[in-house]
Amino acid sequence: MKTLLTLFVFIFLDKGHSTETHDQVLSITPTTQEHVDVLKNVSTQYKTALWQPVSPQYIKQDAQVHLFVPTNSSKTVKDLLQKHTIAHEVLLANTNELIEMQTRINNTDPRSSSTFYERYHSLEDIYEWINRTLQDNPGTVKVILIGSSYEKRPLYVLKLSLNDRPDKKAMWIDCGIHAREWISPAFCLWFVKNSLSFYKQNQDITKILDNMDVYILPVLNPDGYKYTWTMDRMWRKNRSVSKTSACIGVDLNRNFDANWCTEGASSEPCTEIYCGAFPESESESQAVADFLRSHKDSVQIYLSIHSYSQMLLFPYSCSLNEVENHRELLEMAQEAAQNIRRYYRNTYKYGSGAKTIYLAPGGSDDWAYNLGIKYSFTFELQDRGQYGFLLPPSHISRACNEALTAVKTIALKVIEKTKAKKISP
Ligand SMILES: [Zn+2]
Repeated sequence: MKTLLTLFVFIFLDKGHSTETHDQVLSITPTTQEHVDVLKNVSTQYKTALWQPVSPQYIKQDAQVHLFVPTNSSKTVKDLLQKHTIAHEVLLANTNELIEMQTRINNTDPRSSSTFYERYHSLEDIYEWINRTLQDNPGTVKVILIGSSYEKRPLYVLKLSLNDRPDKKAMWIDCGIHAREWISPAFCLWFVKNSLSFYKQNQDITKILDNMDVYILPVLNPDGYKYTWTMDRMWRKNRSVSKTSACIGVDLNRNFDANWCTEGASSEPCTEIYCGAFPESESESQAVADFLRSHKDSVQIYLSIHSYSQMLLFPYSCSLNEVENHRELLEMAQEAAQNIRRYYRNTYKYGSGAKTIYLAPGGSDDWAYNLGIKYSFTFELQDRGQYGFLLPPSHISRACNEALTAVKTIALKVIEKTKAKKISP
């Protein structure tokens, strides 16, 4: 009886205090300016991680905010929301469990029916995969070392070249510029596997690889990616140490030389959108920029893979101006979105970055466009917030196939346009 009573009291107390024992993601929609101010304050003053929007400055009335709240900030944050009568909804009740699911000793459980490509992989595993891919495909795959990260990890680009046609054009794809967007490196691996398996099997893949080489950088930000596996799953930036601040990391997608560090980026090292000390101050962005500068005559398509929100974006993000071939890019993105809808019944928004989301200067896609790569896109893969950055491994194949549909649509269009130009100069 005594134990029963203790148990009862325990349950009662536990309910009364409603203390969280898990890290959570909350969805909060501020409906007044006061709410907006409180939320901006919460996301900067307490140990939380803003998932959406990327920075507190973009929090605005009637737009959903996704906020990661660790256990130890949970009570303070929820009390504050209650005090200001701001309603919230628990988007993910237990992110610890989801993270555990994504990292389970790389999921090598032999009973699991998922393949290598339907799991997330540690940085070490990805390096090993690069090596294996090279060994298994002599003659068609090359590995190019384009530079190294701040912490001296190698930046390897895979070059898929399925034939020796002269004057071949090329497509560039980079993944993992933002560390916590794990579906992005998973897509780069998926793309390589798909290309090598379906060349001469699938008509579209064959046509693309017959007409262009593909350069793939699976992890643009290896230090950050490693950090998300070992220390902080919510990390976004690289890991470079600032000369002026104790805060670590630069947002590599604000570090390129395209209206660098204007509205939409920050010169404050402690923010998630810190632009760095100067354009290309980071070894990762410099390596990519150097490589593309020296290959700009062959590279026709630039693709950068991110998550989440399901969008197909094109320049500009650094300005509200329209690019010279805006209509052309809009039509391509629209067709890609239509194909995704047709084959996978999923909705992707599309448009120029600045008008579809918000101003984001210093991005790699705008920089590549200004370099002369006129077909430049940024993809935001699944989902729209249900799992956000913690997309379960079981969703990888759908998410990657959707993105692959978009890549194919765009590459085939560009090939057609190039042929038409050759015939009628
Ligand atoms: Zn991103």
